[in-house]
Order: sequence, then C-alpha cells, then structure tokens
Amino acid sequence: MKILVTGGAGFIGSHLCKRLLEENHEVLCVDNFFTGSKKNIIELLKNPRFELLRHDVTFPLYVEVDQIYNLACPASPVHYQFDPVQTTKTSVHGAINMLGLAKRTRAKILQASTSEVYGDPEVHPQPESYWGKVNPIGIRSCYDEGKRCAETLFFDYFRQHKVNIRVIRIFNTYGPNMNPHDGRVVSNFIVQALNNEDITIYGDGSQTRSFQYVDDLIEGMIRMMNNQNNFVGPVNIGNPVEFTIKELAEKIISMIPESTSKIIFKDLPQDDPRQRKPDISIAKKELDWEPNVQLEEGLTKTIEYFKKIA
Ligand code: NAD
Ligand code: UDP
Ligand code: UDP
Repeated sequence: MKILVTGGAGFIGSHLCKRLLEENHEVLCVDNFFTGSKKNIIELLKNPRFELLRHDVTFPLYVEVDQIYNLACPASPVHYQFDPVQTTKTSVHGAINMLGLAKRTRAKILQASTSEVYGDPEVHPQPESYWGKVNPIGIRSCYDEGKRCAETLFFDYFRQHKVNIRVIRIFNTYGPNMNPHDGRVVSNFIVQALNNEDITIYGDGSQTRSFQYVDDLIEGMIRMMNNQNNFVGPVNIGNPVEFTIKELAEKIISMIPESTSKIIFKDLPQDDPRQRKPDISIAKKELDWEPNVQLEEGLTKTIEYFKKIA
C-alpha cells in the first residue's frame, strides 16, 4: 500500500514510518520540521520506498494514497504553546485537509488524538466514554480543544461523507527519537541527569502519568488502522501502570548512578492535569492489544539513545 504519514519526521512518526517500510509498504512522509528532524528519518531516506515531502498540513495536499496516519502536531506543552494559533490551525485545518484528501482518494485515515481530550480528569482511570474536563481558554486549550475539534471533524466526515476513519487517544509516550529539547518529562529528566543538571519537578511531584514505550504504541496504532471489525474508535492506547512524577524522577536517577543531579521543585504550570491513567479494556477487546514493555525496560533503551546523541 501507499501510506501517508503526516508528522512523519517527529518522534512517533519516525517509528511508524520505519515499521511501515519493514512491512513493505510505500511511505510518504510529510512534515514541516517544526519539532521533527531529518535526523529521525535519515536512515529511511536510503529506502527507495520512502519519500519525504516538506509541507505544512494547514495547506491543501493533493497526492494519491491508500492510508493516512495524521500525526502532524507539536505534542509537548513547550512547543504547542510557542505559537498557539498555529497549533489550533494544525489540528483543525490539518484535519480538514487530510479528511478532504481521504474523502477524494477513499483512503482510510487514522487520527492521532490524545489523552488531553480528557483535560484534568475527574474520572479515574479514563474510559473513552468520559467526556473530559477541559478549560476552553487556558494555555493548554490550543492543543486540547484543537484535538477535540479534530475528533469532531473525523466523526462528522464519517457520518456525513462515509470516510473510513480510525481515532486513537494516545497517552504519554516515550522512547528514542524524542527531541532532547522537547520539554517533556521523560526527555527532560534523562537529559538533565546525563548532564548533571538539576532535575526539575513541577509542583510537588505528586501528579501522576502512565508512560507507554513507543513500540507498544506503534503496534496498537497499526492494529487499529487495520482492524477488520470496522471499529472506528475512539480507543485509548496507553500503558495503565501509573507513577507519580516524583517516582519517575527517582527511578531515572537510580538508573543513571554516575549522575550528580539533585531534584529541585519549580512552579506547577497552569491547568497541569493531576492524574492520568488509561482504561484500556476497549483496546484489549477490539484489538487484542495491550502494552508489553514495562517502564524500566523502556527507560533503559531511551537512556541509551540520549547517551548516544549527547
Ligand atoms: P513530535 O513533535 O515529535 O512530532 C510531531 C511532528 O509533526 C513533528 O515532526 C513536526 O515537525 C510535525 N508538524 C507539526 N506541525 C506540522 C504542520 N503544520 N504540518 C506538517 N507537520 C507538522 O510529537 P510526537 O510525540 O511524535 O507526536 C505525534 C502525534 O501524536 C501528535 O499529533 C501528538 O499530538 C500525538 N500524541 C503524542 C503523545 C506523546 O506522548 N508523544 C501523546 C498523545 C498524542
Ligand atoms: N483537500 C486536500 N486534498 C485533497 C482534497 C481536498 O487537501 O485531495 C482539502 C481541500 O483544501 C478542502 C479540504 O481538504 O478545502 C476539505 O475537503 P472537502 O472535500 O471536504 O471540502 P470542500 O472541497 O468541499 O471544501
Ligand atoms: N514535568 C515536570 N518536569 C519537567 C517536565 C514536566 O515535573 O521538566 C511534569 C509536568 O508538569 C506534568 C508531567 O511532568 O505534570 C508530564 O509532563 P509532559 O509535558 O511530559 O506531558 P503532559 O503534561 O502533556 O502529560
């Protein structure tokens, strides 16, 4: 098949492109390199079935493809808050353009949505049926509401135009190819520990997240795209093992024993969710999927990666 991956030069996109090439597909990677990097896909450029196009998804794109994975969007708060108007445009205009492309070519299209659609959740763990608690006017809203609107567009193109959609809600994911300056918690703590800098916990570190290794996500994504039940989602894809941010910091310090870094506490950003953990019963039932990589194993591989690029 000919498969389009938007945001293909980013962290998750680069792993997805690699996996699709291994499955013998033709891959068209579209990226504007806002947060992604050619370094993430440099190895793939040798493959004649791989094609790279610099393009911004807020503009129309006319290509012929069989499947579309729509990942283009900065994912870390530091980057999506840098130009919040562009973030909303990327989610909303990007979704409209990619859905228009899917409608014209009859391609199947998967949206990389997010656990952020649940906002600062009052229900724990979060099932797909929960509608979320999202601030519409805060500093995270460009991302949260942009992604929520993209989900709306996906379901309206599905109902109104019979576009063949799939929607996954990705929970915090980490692994090699994360941008070292991304500002996300796993990359920050590892890079800080390797450089003997202070480890910056925001707030008191009692807030929780559930961390999924990227390989587990890619498997879930591909199963969702290709499921034969015509199950369109939304479906949570994440690892339900929950940690506090303080526990994560302590774990990373213990895994880099040569580090002299000390933990320091900084202000908690506005609207930072208190807790987050996926209910993955639907993914288990519909996709026969669950994560296999536990935190220590995934962190070991991620630390190796950051040592290599240092
Ligand atoms: P990333 O920032 O590494 O990748 C995003 C990619 O999209 C980058 O290569 C960037 O250059 C590109 N991009 C941004 N705006 C674009 C535009 N207008 N046109 C074309 N390309 C554009 O982030 P990631 O972690 O790989 O996230 C990929 C997708 O998964 C995003 O849609 C994100 O919202 C979603 N997601 C990620 C996580 C996570 O924990 N990593 C969690 C939930 C959802
Ligand atoms: N579009 C695109 N590639 C295509 C087809 C459409 O980028 O192959 C864009 C086009 O810019 C359009 C949008 O997708 O504005 C939505 O397409 P749709 O057919 O739903 O709407 P319309 O063309 O009627 O505005
Ligand atoms: N965080 C932190 N120190 C950092 C970066 C992040 O304590 O250097 C916290 C952040 O406030 C949040 C959690 O770690 O509570 C996860 O942050 P991230 O930006 O990785 O993801 P998200 O908040 O989008 O889940």
